[in-house]
Amino acid sequence: MNFRSTRGLEYGVDSTRAIINGISKDGGLYVPDSFPNIYKLLRNKKEFSYEELAFEIIREYFTDIHDKELIEAINEAYNDRFQIKVHNNFLELYHGPTCAFKDAALLFLPQIMKRAKKVCNKKEEIVILAATSGDTGKAALEGFKDIEGFKVVVYYPKKGVSAIQERQMITQKGDNVKVIGINGNFDDAQRFVKQMFGDNDFKEELLKQGFLLSSANSINIGRLVPQIVYYFYGYFNLVIKGVIKQGDKINVVVPTGNFGNILASYYAKQMGLPIDKFICASNENKVLTDFFNSGIYDKRRELVLTESPSMDILVSSNLERLLFEASGRNPEIIKDLMNSLSENGVYEINDEMKKFMKEFYGGYATTEEVHDAIREVYEKDNYLMDTHTAVGYVVKKKYQLETNDTKEVLIASTASPFKFPRSICEALKIPNDKIDDFEVLKKLSEITKNNIPDGLANLSQYQIIHNEVCDRSEMKKILLSYLGIEG
Ligand SMILES: *Cc1c(COP(=O)(O)O)cnc(C)c1O
Repeated sequence: MNFRSTRGLEYGVDSTRAIINGISKDGGLYVPDSFPNIYKLLRNKKEFSYEELAFEIIREYFTDIHDKELIEAINEAYNDRFQIKVHNNFLELYHGPTCAFKDAALLFLPQIMKRAKKVCNKKEEIVILAATSGDTGKAALEGFKDIEGFKVVVYYPKKGVSAIQERQMITQKGDNVKVIGINGNFDDAQRFVKQMFGDNDFKEELLKQGFLLSSANSINIGRLVPQIVYYFYGYFNLVIKGVIKQGDKINVVVPTGNFGNILASYYAKQMGLPIDKFICASNENKVLTDFFNSGIYDKRRELVLTESPSMDILVSSNLERLLFEASGRNPEIIKDLMNSLSENGVYEINDEMKKFMKEFYGGYATTEEVHDAIREVYEKDNYLMDTHTAVGYVVKKKYQLETNDTKEVLIASTASPFKFPRSICEALKIPNDKIDDFEVLKKLSEITKNNIPDGLANLSQYQIIHNEVCDRSEMKKILLSYLGIEG
């Protein structure tokens, strides 16, 4: 399989190169030349372990890595570290070391990158730069820590992540990791990271010093492809349980930020998986809701800090990949739209692209709706949803009310409720003022009789290792000094 840039400059790129580069030289994102329809083949096999299914799907894309190597990568990534559970309609993607769905992709990415590096015969040390709105950072740190030939540098908005998320990152061990808080929001952090990737002179300079810049954000195709597996796994699970018959169409609901996870579900459909509608759920940063309703993407608004911080995003990078498909794979259109976005903060897609978007439904949930939903589901089913998942749940209900569509749904459940315990307590009206986040965690566990997941249980006792905070203007300087390079 070859990959090409959504902006047209590069094509015929091997998967290993696409993975190592992260983003194309022209600023575009790598997309596969085609989507192999393997649902037809997979549907005949009865049961898969997650690892087996991952192998069947990923091998279609990363064809320049030997099967044996790929199996090793998958096993090293997932064995005993990650699993998916399906509870009713909830596709629980958060049973991994950091308790959020990004684990699945970010445990795999280092393993595939390590092997891609060998295939490409790259001798340089790879520097993973990541901007995080809370979960990516920790998952990248866990995935890449102490992997030889890699360094990880994570920037997070000092005031834009939860106390638990922050503590997870600043207590990160490993000889090759650096975590930096910034005085700014997620988009500031992401803009910086994108700027570094887009600065070819800077990258040349680093290369001379023996460093190769790459990304762990979901723009990396090595992170996107393993996410396709979730939807196949969830679908087959519904079949096994007898909820649907093989071949029945379902809808998927995805609480969305950077548009990576929902795009993976769209890719799954291109591979034949019977999905009808994609329900794109946003919090009060409802740029995508407005986009799916009007065809106009307008980021000119204030970022709202919500209780689902991993979705507090105004520029959803992976939407570019969907636009590419919607445009009939026309890079000229994509370049125009992306120029308009960076120059004017807004773009409008043409009528044909608007028609294409009919498979998507955009909706959003307010904080109040999220709290009500968490309480309702807990009281009704004794089931705890986190704030991100609850956004999905609210939007699912709105969709069903509006359309009377009764197809089965899978709701991507993206984080453990224990990652956001204060919000959950607020929702359940459990008093939580005057106690710190870690006591809130305990209280929530005691009252709801749910165990705190391993990764969070002893967090408050871990030593804080990273306490650097900087302004936007200093982000580059700090990176260079960490790498031991004069600015
Ligand atoms: C990252 C994240 C999301 C958003 O996923 P995207 O792929 O960026 O759309 C949703 N929920 C949680 C908990 C996350 O960590």
